[in-house]
Order: sequence, then structure tokens, then C-alpha cells
Amino acid sequence: MRASQFFISTLKEAPADAEIVSQKLMLRAGFIRKVAAGVYTWMPMGLRTLRKVETIVREEMDRAGAIELTMPVVQPAGLWQETGRWDKMGEELLRFKDRHERDFVIQPTSEEVITDIARNELKSYRALPKNFYQIQTKFRDERRPRFGVMRGREFVMKDAYSFDRDMEAAGKSYDNMYRAYCRIFDRLGLTYRAVAADTGAIGGDRSHEFQVIADTGEDAIVYCPQSDYAANIELAEALAPEGERPAPGATMQKVHTPRVKTIADLVGFLKMDIRQTVKAVVVEGDEAPVLMLVRGDHELNEVKAEKIAGIKKPLTFASPAAILAAFGANPGSLGPVGFKGRIIADRTVAKMADMVVGANEDDHHYTGVNFGRDCAEPEVADLRNVVEGDPSPCGKGALAIQRGIEVGHVFYLGTKYSVAMNATFLDEDGKPKPLEMGCYGIGVTRIVGAAIEQNHDTRGIIWPDAIAPFGVVICPVGYDRSEAVRATADTLYQGLAERGIDVILDDRGERPGAMFADWELIGVPHRVTIGERGLKEGKVEYQYRRDAEATDLPAEGVLAAVL
Ligand code: ATP
Ligand code: MG
Ligand code: MG
Ligand code: MG
Repeated sequence: MRASQFFISTLKEAPADAEIVSQKLMLRAGFIRKVAAGVYTWMPMGLRTLRKVETIVREEMDRAGAIELTMPVVQPAGLWQETGRWDKMGEELLRFKDRHERDFVIQPTSEEVITDIARNELKSYRALPKNFYQIQTKFRDERRPRFGVMRGREFVMKDAYSFDRDMEAAGKSYDNMYRAYCRIFDRLGLTYRAVAADTGAIGGDRSHEFQVIADTGEDAIVYCPQSDYAANIELAEALAPEGERPAPGATMQKVHTPRVKTIADLVGFLKMDIRQTVKAVVVEGDEAPVLMLVRGDHELNEVKAEKIAGIKKPLTFASPAAILAAFGANPGSLGPVGFKGRIIADRTVAKMADMVVGANEDDHHYTGVNFGRDCAEPEVADLRNVVEGDPSPCGKGALAIQRGIEVGHVFYLGTKYSVAMNATFLDEDGKPKPLEMGCYGIGVTRIVGAAIEQNHDTRGIIWPDAIAPFGVVICPVGYDRSEAVRATADTLYQGLAERGIDVILDDRGERPGAMFADWELIGVPHRVTIGERGLKEGKVEYQYRRDAEATDLPAEGVLAAVL
């Protein structure tokens, strides 16, 4: 590429509303331009990096056996009503009507559409396992879009969905994706950590987030330096439903369960085997919030729902999904538990315990870390105030804390969507069974911002080679004046281009200072500067973006020296 034929648009200053370094640098380097809050144009320079990220993701998904397709950005409300998410998703889901007054959504994710595909196409165990993925535009009407492409409203996600015969096979699909994600983030050249994550409405322990380590990250991670233990600390906001987020220092106790009296009962349950499929639901009753604990025993093939506050006879359901469907399908109606209520939160038991029990030590506390807690009197819990140095649950060392940016998420879904949408296959015994599912997301556009948070200096971006918009820039000084400069630059350019190296020749005729400042801001990893004075001594200059100074290379055979 010749710079004169490309589009380069750098800014001396970032717009005043840019908050963090990656956002400022992406704007200054001409990677993105803002169109509306959380909505950006990817300019030609930025698009080159975005495409490289996509290519790595695609190659590793293909290598892992996933199959690419593309689902529509615009999806009919009907599918979202089948799973209950039309009602449950709240304002983050962007909805609109077409000219016939029919309801649609813009996909924030695509479980509904892919499950619809699966129920029509994957009808026999012989068709399994399958893993479908897309790299597609998503829209989430985020309450607070910020940090440029890191928390956009429109963004690109790679989303994959696996379908299996049973839990064991689904576990293998999960592990396979986990390994693919490690390869992806290794190839991207990022420093990251895979951490145990919230399993939210699903329950179980199979959910990991891939977190790029950076001080500006919105997530906090506890980890043990002596082992591979790592977990996401869910901040207080993350636990509270939209609109009920506690003010800093407020307690989950006050927000969620003001009149739950039987914490001892809850803790009794918590001491049971939490590896069972367990979930808890807060149901807002007529008079007071009521806690429900839903517990599945896979061996007995039985699921029970018990009211924690004032325990009544347990109810038995066929599957966890049946309970979810029963609650989820009819929020606000008379539920199967026999009282009027509205589901106001829906969390795993670990989370529930945290919400009810509060702090287990003086004014600090983590979630997803330790389930057995003392529980006498609920205390004020500031979930954002975790203390370093506490013993790790792995027993091997003391906990440390880092901040991270969630760039990927792998999640075992079980039969939540397949049961709700009646997506069954015929198993070897001739019986219909619900498909076992997993979902796997990667924030493709967010990765670009996260990479910059990790790789920059005062002069600009420092791209990992794998995702730099250009790998090498040739900066001729006096390209239009000096025959020798021009000939050396052109020869080098052609040689690199022929070898498939992404090279750009800066033939814009800028002064050397301005030219260098641009390429340091843009962050191209390798720069070759060719000037008349150097050529007289048979030299050109080479500088790696991370180096403080340039080194001399022989002008003769410079191509070989650069390669
Ligand atoms: P977050 O906790 O940051 O809101 P999420 O848990 O809601 O993310 P997922 O539903 O797990 O996101 O989606 C998969 C991936 O999509 C995330 O790991 C993240 O990298 C990316 N992503 C999610 N929301 C956004 C956003 N608003 N802008 C850019 N990328 C996003
Ligand atoms: Mg989110
Ligand atoms: Mg998240
Ligand atoms: Mg997530």
C-alpha cells in the first residue's frame, strides 16, 4: 500500500469526551470516528486491524471444528417470546416495529435463532455434535456506553453455539472452545487470564471469562499467584437487577431481601453439595420478597423447589429447565409454587448466599470464591472492597487482585433454550431428548481497544505484530527529490509486498518529524527510514516501535536484513 493512495487521518488532540487511553488513541490515530453514543465508523486504518482480529478468531474457530454461518441482525419478536427473553431482557434489547406493526429486535446475541435452526435441522443424534458460529454485528442499548469501542452499543461479536447429545459431550465441546480461546488470545499477543465467572440464571460451574489484564478494566479479578485459581469478583452493580442497583456502600441485604428472616435455613442448604444444579430465585410475593431455592439431583433425576422463608413441602419438577420455563414463561402470574409473585432476581445459590448473608468478614467479601460463610447477622457488605492477601480457596497461597477487560466468555447452557423452544433430537434409543447447548462469545471490536490498553506509550499505540494495521512502514526522506532514496524505497517496498508482508510506503511528502509522529501514533511495529545522507554511507535506519532509538542497516541487501 502506498500512503498517498490510502486514507490516513490523524489528530493532534483527542476529542474532549474521550475518557481512556485506547479510546483517545483510536480517535487520534484515525481508527474510528464517533457517529452517536456507542456507535462508531471503523475508518480504513482501524478496519485493517479489526479484520486481522476477525481472521485469527475465524481461523481458530474453524480449526476447532466450528462451522461458520450468518444469522440476521433483525430478528422477529416471536422467537424471543418463546424463550421469555422478550419480557426478561429489559431495555438493553433494542426493539422496533416494521410497517405492518410487527415486533422485531436487533440481535444482542443469537441463542433464539440458532436454537430455531437446530430444532429444524439437528433431528438425530447422528447429526451431533455441531458447533455453529458467526462474526456479526450486535446491538445492546447499554445504559452507559463508554470507553469507545470497549462498551459500545453497536459492536462486533463472534458468537458460537454448540449442540450435543448429553452433558458429557457438552462438556467436551466446552473444553474444546476453552482451548480454542486460549489459542486465539495467545495469537493476538495479549496478556490475559481465564477466570471462573457468574453462571447467572443457568447455574452450575461451567462458565469462564477471558479477561485482558488492564488497569482500566471494568471487571475485578481475584487470583492466586501460586495456582491457576482465578475468579471474577462480581461488583455490587452486577448483582442487582437493572433499576435496583445499590448506591456505593449500600448493602445487597437492603436492596434485595429486606424481610427474609430465615437465613439459617438458607445456610443449611448451602452446606449441601453445591455442585448439584442449584439455583435460587427471589420471588417478590404479595407482602414480602420470598426466596426460592431450586435444587437438582442428577442421580435421583429429580428437581425440587423449596421456599426458604417459611419452608413448605418441596415441589418436584422433571428438570431444572422445567422450573425455569415455569417461572420464566409467566413472570407475574400465579407460579407453580402457589403464590403470586414476580421474579426480581435469578441467581446461582452462591450468589444468593452472598445477597442474603452479606459480609463474612469485616466490611469485605468476595463472591464466587467461598461458599461456606458464617451467617449469624447479616452485615453491611461493600462488594467493591475486596482485600488482597486473604487466603485463596485453593489453599495454596494468598489472593491477589487485578482489573480486567472481558474479551471472551464461554458458557455451558444445558437445556435452557432447547426445552423452552422444544428443540429435541432422536437419540439412539429412539426417544426425543432436548439438545445440550453451550454458547461462546468473543468481543471482536472490544479486543482492539483492549489490545491498546495493554500496548501503548506516550507517543501512541504499539501493536502486537499479529494485529497491526501494517507490519512495516517505509519512511523515505525526500522521496520526490532524491533518485537514490526513491529507488531504494521502491525496491524494498516491492520486495516486502511480494513476500506477503503488510507494508506501507509513506510517499505523502510529509516532513520527517510529522511522518514519524504519525506512524508512532498509529503504532506500526517496524519502521525503515531511508534518507540521502544515510545512503551515501550505504545505510538505512531501522526502528522497532518499542525501541528508544533506531539502528543502522546496510542499504545493500536491506530486504534480507528486514525480513
Ligand atoms: P459485559 O460484562 O462487559 O457487559 P457481557 O457479559 O454482557 O459483557 P456477553 O454477553 O458475555 O457480554 O458477550 C460476549 C462478549 O461480547 C463479551 O465477553 C464482550 O467481549 C463482548 N461485549 C459485550 N458487550 C459489549 C459491548 N457493549 N461493547 C463491546 N463488546 C461487548
Ligand atoms: Mg453486558
Ligand atoms: Mg460480563
Ligand atoms: Mg459475559
